[in-house]
Amino acid sequence: MTSSEPEQNPETPEPEEAAPLRVAVIGSGPAGIYTADALTRQSRVPVRVDILDRLHTPYGLVRHGVAPDHTKIKGVARALRRILEHPHVTFVGGVEFGSDLTRADLSRSHHAVVYATGAGVDRRMGIPGEDLPGSVAATDFVNWYCGHPDSELERFVLDAEAVAVVGAGNVALDVARILVKTADELRHTDIPQPALDALSRSRVRTVHVLARRGPLQAKFTAPELRDLMKLPGVDVVVRPEQVDIDLAEVGTDRPGFREVAKASRTNLKLLREQATREPQGRPRRIEFHFWTRPERIVGAEGVEGLRVEHTRLDDRERLVDTGEHSTLNVGMVLRSVGYAGVPLTGVPFDERGRTVPQEEGRVLNGGGSVVRGDYVAGWIKRGATGVIGTNKSDAAATVRSLLADADALRAGVPEPVELVDVLAERGLTASDYEGWLRIDEAEEGLAAELDRGARVKLGGWEAYRKALGRG
Ligand code: NAP
Repeated sequence: MTSSEPEQNPETPEPEEAAPLRVAVIGSGPAGIYTADALTRQSRVPVRVDILDRLHTPYGLVRHGVAPDHTKIKGVARALRRILEHPHVTFVGGVEFGSDLTRADLSRSHHAVVYATGAGVDRRMGIPGEDLPGSVAATDFVNWYCGHPDSELERFVLDAEAVAVVGAGNVALDVARILVKTADELRHTDIPQPALDALSRSRVRTVHVLARRGPLQAKFTAPELRDLMKLPGVDVVVRPEQVDIDLAEVGTDRPGFREVAKASRTNLKLLREQATREPQGRPRRIEFHFWTRPERIVGAEGVEGLRVEHTRLDDRERLVDTGEHSTLNVGMVLRSVGYAGVPLTGVPFDERGRTVPQEEGRVLNGGGSVVRGDYVAGWIKRGATGVIGTNKSDAAATVRSLLADADALRAGVPEPVELVDVLAERGLTASDYEGWLRIDEAEEGLAAELDRGARVKLGGWEAYRKALGRG
């Protein structure tokens, strides 16, 4: 779009009178906030950024995805907070794109819209019994212990003695760890009180973690694996024969050995060390099952077991059944097989990848042409991969495209109206950053009242409304 434009020095500001480029960012998770950061860090194009979120609280998965006991990762919120407090950034909470406000509405108030809505739902396993009571999406469980307002506070009773967690990613390790930790180990975190109470009454003793491929192909990372292995009340069981892999063969042409990253070798090293440790008869245990793929969830009224098939990789690295099957006696199945994006009203969507089709952050329509004014960042752009920091470079790349298009974007909406006026016309009362600070304060107050750490999450929309003074 801009190849014929003269090169501009990024340090040379535009003339004083240039009206700011108005950008709406949909979603206030890391991808959305890093988008605002990249937009406001430069001075060549003056900008004003509105970050919209359907929740009254910012930070997306940092608040409602990172496990409550991962306080160091949650510390990212401090950096995100500084960006939200930038004078040219405005947080607009309690407004849902698509239902409250449409793309057409925003085309009156903004020159560009960046969708940073993440990947809000779980992927399906596609096996019989998946919808039986007791078969639960990890996203549901995570939302519950992270105090997402959509989640019912009494959602989980945890009366099964054995649980299967399907998947070998970091979310699987998060949910397995939360299931085996004691309430005492969690009471100084921000976990909502009803979830802490349910965990303190939990009957769960064994958590089976199922990986359909081998230890070298697992997606989880070493810090999360170490976290599990050092839990004092938990035996972590790794079967020696499943990790008996000769590291000298890594990088050879044997199936499963190609493209083995350093991270996988570290995982293998940790798992091998663990395999040498005898279980100590501790109160709870986590058992790793590699080469184990769910086939069918067994049960009439609810989960009674999980039928699995045992697998291997063939010469072309395809996962194949070995013909061996077995059944795990479990009363709950947590499906942790990855997250998927949700289509946005009026925005192109790739059903297969569960992302918005794009090129360098510019949204593409079905014909492959650029949709003017529409951009995308984060998981809805690239799929649910990477760590929080990955979103920083991802957002910066999108912002480079957006800024390169600035002149055309301005020409497309010569006289933007104020967002507050659009919201008023729609009869919407959004919440703002001050509102979030009131919720923040209420959560700190609740922690003090319960004598629990620095913060305890409020649960449910009603509690938010009360904190906002609307209750
Ligand atoms: P993920 O890393 O993509 O892992 C998904 C797992 O599910 C993989 O082991 C995958 O196996 C397996 N799987 C997929 N379909 C399956 C099926 N039909 N049956 C059985 N297994 C299946 O996803 P995630 O754990 O949801 O994590 C999402 C992202 O968030 C990742 O980037 C993760 O690192 C990040 N995250 C990071 C942290 C942290 O840093 N502490 C915490 C949580 C999440 P295959 O490999 O065989 O496909």
